[in-house]
Amino acid sequence: MLVMTPAARKSQRRKERRALEARRGKLGRTRYDALVKELADVIRLAFDAGATASLWGMEGPLRAGIRADLCLQGWSWGTADLTACDMLAEAFRRVRAVRPTWNEGQPEWVIHEGLLIERTRCVRCSAPLPEGHHKFCGKACSMAMHHYIASLKAANEQTAVRLAVNSKRKTS
Ligand SMILES: [Zn+2]
Repeated sequence: MLVMTPAARKSQRRKERRALEARRGKLGRTRYDALVKELADVIRLAFDAGATASLWGMEGPLRAGIRADLCLQGWSWGTADLTACDMLAEAFRRVRAVRPTWNEGQPEWVIHEGLLIERTRCVRCSAPLPEGHHKFCGKACSMAMHHYIASLKAANEQTAVRLAVNSKRKTS
């Protein structure tokens, strides 16, 4: 793990700030600020209108859009992407968007104890389940899945046997 001294951390932060300022300067401070304000307005409007489920809903398309515009103006891809990222970070700060934690991003976050979720697609091929089917779309998928799991179990047993035999040889 990389451990930085306070002085090195300060120097690193200064370097990053200078790079950020350089990217802002390349666009022009006034234009940069106007674009950030416009972005914040778009993010807020889309969320208030219900077009996005969270304030972060437009992050991907906006970042790609800004980057593409800058690239078309002759910017390198890397600088354009970093600038788009900087602008969006500032826009999200303006609208006071708080990024969800990793846990909140997992499907289990909304599944409470005892909650049953009805399966609507085949476990193997993801085709919609016909009426009366609860796991597989048909006999073919059901058999293929059972065969696959059986072969996985067999492989695991073989691996276990091989490991046991190898460890016995080493100790004796
Ligand atoms: Zn299937």
